Amino acid sequence: MNKIDFLTRRNFIKGLGATGVVFAAPSMATAIAADGIHWDEQVEMAIIGSGFAGLAAGIEAIKHGCKAVTIYEKMAVYGGNSAINGGLFAAPNTPLQQQKGINDSVDIMVADQLKSGRGVADEKLLRHIASHARDALQMTIDAGAEYYPYLQQLGGHSVPRTYQTKVSCGAGITQPLLHECRKVGVTLQNRSKFEGFILTKEGAVAGIRIRYPYYFEDENSGNIVNIRASKGVLVATGGFAQNVNLRMAQDPTLTAEVGCTNAKGATGEAMLEMFRLGAVPVHLAYIQSGPWASPDEGGFGYVSNYAIFNFPHSIAVNCLTGKRFMNEIADRKTRADAELACRDAAGKPLPPIMITSYAHAKEHPTCEKVLKYGVGWKFDSLQAIAKRFNIPLQPLQQQVDEYNAYVKAGDDKQFGKSMAKAKDMYIAAPYTVVRLWPKVHYCQGGVQVNANAEVLDSNTGKAIKGLYAAGEVCGGIHGVSRLGSCSIPECMVMGMTAARSMMGA
Ligand SMILES: Cc1cc2nc3c(=O)[nH]c(=O)nc-3n(C[C@H](O)[C@H](O)[C@H](O)COP(=O)(O)OP(=O)(O)OC[C@H]3O[C@@H](n4cnc5c(N)ncnc54)[C@H](O)[C@@H]3O)c2cc1C
Repeated sequence: MNKIDFLTRRNFIKGLGATGVVFAAPSMATAIAADGIHWDEQVEMAIIGSGFAGLAAGIEAIKHGCKAVTIYEKMAVYGGNSAINGGLFAAPNTPLQQQKGINDSVDIMVADQLKSGRGVADEKLLRHIASHARDALQMTIDAGAEYYPYLQQLGGHSVPRTYQTKVSCGAGITQPLLHECRKVGVTLQNRSKFEGFILTKEGAVAGIRIRYPYYFEDENSGNIVNIRASKGVLVATGGFAQNVNLRMAQDPTLTAEVGCTNAKGATGEAMLEMFRLGAVPVHLAYIQSGPWASPDEGGFGYVSNYAIFNFPHSIAVNCLTGKRFMNEIADRKTRADAELACRDAAGKPLPPIMITSYAHAKEHPTCEKVLKYGVGWKFDSLQAIAKRFNIPLQPLQQQVDEYNAYVKAGDDKQFGKSMAKAKDMYIAAPYTVVRLWPKVHYCQGGVQVNANAEVLDSNTGKAIKGLYAAGEVCGGIHGVSRLGSCSIPECMVMGMTAARSMMGA
């Protein structure tokens, strides 16, 4: 991006601001020595963070004989980003794929992810995750998670392989997992903020310092408690998208005014603490924006899941030209970049719209919500859409006709979109419309781990003894751009992997 583009983009993003809370990374104590320390508590396994990675690790630990595992969560509520997520879970070779005759495999899923990762994803880890994704899905089903009886094909995935919870939200998974944790004997402790590591003379992680009871953003609340973890510490504290200083250090365009889909606790201080200990930082600048977000609501909102469901049989239109400008199911980076390029004649941002046939949109429960809360609108004609969004009517009409011809032929001559999920799904009145604009969503960067979920040391290249990490706090797995619905399997599989490694299973 040249300088002019860069400044225009930054100003433009400011204009569309949503969250606007600036978090400085709270200052943390550096690691202290275990020698002569008073241990307040002792566990076998200490897990920091109660998202998918932490919860899956807790359950797996008990399965493998752990007698004392505690999950420490700094917020008052459990679940982090996992609880507010879209509930979309990708896995290959699943019962639903078999039932629907969809040919998929670990190789095909990994190939899709490597393509989206643009040559710098970690193939070994992706393969490990895809190979165990079905086990992770089964863990959620065994715990009581409920999924729709159909699969979605998300952007960048070559086949339908994505399950969605019936509540269209990650809480449809975290709540059953929390329940399961309690049932099997995992201890959960909220308002418990990780403050730093406690190390043996040899530099191994022997325990952690927890601030308890902690009240978010009051860094002096509570007292420090020293916890010994005889089998190790798992850091599962998620990403840092809400730490504006840190994300701007990687990408200065991601100012406080840029919308963000994440929970407030995604501030990254535990990741920084691992760097202080010597962990390898990987791909911190790869911060993903979600192309399905709307400038008309805060956070993930209703439009995101609505758009994810409808993109395969909808068209995204540039309001300046009345034409499509992208493959609506390309990977996230491709689409987010294409949306950011939609501007008016003066170069100012002009959020594109997505047009869907109401008959198809209403198949998903989010349609009702989008219309009810005024973040999407119903129209009887293309004329009405053109008038409302100031789009030239004739090119718009022509575009819809052309696209419908691609639906008929099963071949998108304009952008090469797979029409498998658009069969017989013409764009026809009445229509529903939402506006699109990317929001900061996911951090591909973090600490480097190996296939045992051990955190690697930048000096030696070897595992830091006693330290494990899983979930979004890890970096390098997805490369430049993660595919949608691939974080849940990653978090859960790597959390389960970490628990098995710690238990020597
Ligand atoms: C709105 C939204 C929708 C999404 N939808 C999907 C989807 O449908 N499918 C998909 O695959 N991915 C999705 N993602 C991405 C995915 O949800 C996240 O990558 C994933 O939830 C991360 O899980 P985690 O266990 O690593 O961390 P989190 O779920 O973020 O959990 C980390 C926890 O650690 C806590 N924590 C942080 N620091 C500390 C500390 N110092 N001490 C103690 N606790 C701490 C946090 O408060 C948090 O509760 C979505 C993300 C968002 C934000």
